[in-house]
Amino acid sequence: MGDESEIEKGVALLRYFLDDREDKKAALDLAELVTGRPDLQREILRAAGRYRPVESSRDVSPVEREVEGSCLRCGRQISRGYFLDTPGGEIGPFGSTCIERVKS
Ligand SMILES: [Zn+2]
Repeated sequence: MGDESEIEKGVALLRYFLDDREDKKAALDLAELVTGRPDLQREILRAAGRYRPVESSRDVSPVEREVEGSCLRCGRQISRGYFLDTPGGEIGPFGSTCIERVKS
């Protein structure tokens, strides 16, 4: 998987979850879900920062389906999960609680 798609995924994730992109800690936590590489994490934060919060994305909607595995955010075992379909590819699964947007 190329760096570009990792960045697109990360940006979509941040746009989906964060209304307030000034929250660097929350943003970094999300970027870390996509990649373990610090250079790509920084690139994701930089790219996401170019979007105004008012555009805060409603263009990515979660898709629910059965999964065998664990939630990407909290690691809890789940049997139904939510996936975000982004320009860079699908991200997930997330449990029902963890797919809820972070309230700033
Ligand atoms: Zn979770």
